Amino acid sequence: MSLPAPKNIKQVDESTLGISWNDGHDSVYSVKHLRESCPCANCIDEWSGEKLIAPGSIPQEIRPRNLKAVGLYAIQFDWSDGHNTGFYTHELLRQLCECEACKNKKAVS
Ligand SMILES: [Zn+2]
Ligand SMILES: [Zn+2]
Repeated sequence: MSLPAPKNIKQVDESTLGISWNDGHDSVYSVKHLRESCPCANCIDEWSGEKLIAPGSIPQEIRPRNLKAVGLYAIQFDWSDGHNTGFYTHELLRQLCECEACKNKKAVS
């Protein structure tokens, strides 16, 4: 089974990013939350999974300056704070989705 892949990525408004997937799902993300969820070794402890980003250290006005596909499985963001080492796999992006349906699912489990 192949994982859903992003079909379209767009800036919804100043602080919201939207991704449309090829399985019909429409994801929305708070840009700041995405940056805080960066999976690279500088932002998260590889062994414990603990976040290394100090709470509140990401500015509210953080923006993706650029993003590009990495192979067929991930997206690399170039953030306005100069950080660009995180590869967001499609799987991770689906987990981070903040659309109503996904938020409700998380609230239940
Ligand atoms: Zn990072
Ligand atoms: Zn969703």
